[in-house]
Order: sequence, then C-alpha cells, then structure tokens
Amino acid sequence: MTHEQIQERLNEWLDGELDASAFAEVSSHLDACAACKGDVLRLRRLGAALFKSPAAADSRSTEAFVARVMARVEAESVSPWEKFAARFLAPAFGLALAGLIFTIYVPRADIDAPLGVVASVDADSVLGVAP
Ligand SMILES: [Zn+2]
Repeated sequence: MTHEQIQERLNEWLDGELDASAFAEVSSHLDACAACKGDVLRLRRLGAALFKSPAAADSRSTEAFVARVMARVEAESVSPWEKFAARFLAPAFGLALAGLIFTIYVPRADIDAPLGVVASVDADSVLGVAP
C-alpha cells in the first residue's frame, strides 16, 4: 500500500477492522512513517475526546445546562403587552371564534319555521287538486 492508501485505512487500523495482512502492512508502515504515526495520534485523541463527552454529560451537567437555559429565558424580558396578549387576547379570540362557528352551524328557530309551515301544508293544496 502507498502512504496515501495507508492514511485512508488508519481508522480501520485503529478500530481493528483490517484483516491480518492489511493490519501488519499498516503497522509496519507506521513504524517507518512519522506523518502516519502523527495522524494515528490525532485520531486517538479525537476518539478519546468524542467518547469522553457522553461521560461528562452526567445528570449534574444536564441540570446545570437546564438551569443556564432557564436563566437566559427568564432574563429575556417579556413585555407587558406580550403578557397581556398571552393571558387575555388569545383566549378571547378563541372564544369569539367558537361563538362564530356556533352561530354559523347551529340552526336558528326562525329559519326552521318556514320549513315547518311548508311541511304541514296539505299535499293536495300544493298540487292544485281541489278537495
Ligand atoms: Zn505514511
């Protein structure tokens, strides 16, 4: 393998994903190549840093994170107008909308009345047949 091919396989070498002959070839190249040896060191440090992060995120740091976020949220002042709108205008708008829907969809008694009258008319008088 060339130096470039070795560099492309350094992660696999570190993760033990190479077959025995490829592993031996990369290992012997690492003994001779300072650049690849340096890359392996950087990859190991990166891997260590990545695997360290979840351990650092224990419950105390999570609570501290939540506390910091909540402190920032509370620090960002909400204007009195926004408080008023959230507390009164939104429910009032919802109530008005519900009233509008109720008015449109619930049939009114004075609209039903002519239908009731028509329904009670004798069928013969409508057809023009004299009794
Ligand atoms: Zn190399």
